[in-house]
Amino acid sequence: MKRIAIFPGSFNPFTIGHADIVRRGLALFDTVIVAIGCNAGKTTDSSVDERVSALARIYKDESRVKVVAYTGLTVDLARREGAQFILRGVRSVKDFEYERDMATVNAEISDESGTFPVETVLLVSDPRYAHISSSIVRELQAYGRDVSSYLP
Ligand code: ADP
Repeated sequence: MKRIAIFPGSFNPFTIGHADIVRRGLALFDTVIVAIGCNAGKTTDSSVDERVSALARIYKDESRVKVVAYTGLTVDLARREGAQFILRGVRSVKDFEYERDMATVNAEISDESGTFPVETVLLVSDPRYAHISSSIVRELQAYGRDVSSYLP
């Protein structure tokens, strides 16, 4: 059976920190699906369609990476895509608390009879990228700074 992981996020924008999680995820999984969530409560600077096409360009030569946009629960996307895993990155203790709660809830709500729950795999951020967040990149962009060194 193929091991498929969903890497969900806002990716607004997709940074070199995110790209590193995808790269390392490919060592663990046959396919990594980068899934751009379009849920309420998040600011959107570039449209979701633009983010999908930018990501599709970045991964055009990597057949094991798929890019999708989605609404709704990540575990429902995982079931639709036949994915057994959710892949996430952890930069700090602050990230960890949130990721632990999400992982626990996602395991609980996907624990139906006859199937395994969707397991979350957390990769510890490479220290070279642990300070990079989409929100800081957006803020720098808003003040006209060149952010290309933070983007793949
Ligand atoms: P969300 O809004 O779902 O947190 P993000 O796009 O901000 O979406 O992040 C998606 C995932 O990537 C999260 O698990 C986050 O912790 C991780 N991540 C974000 N930035 C980095 C980074 N610099 N290094 C490693 N992981 C990161």
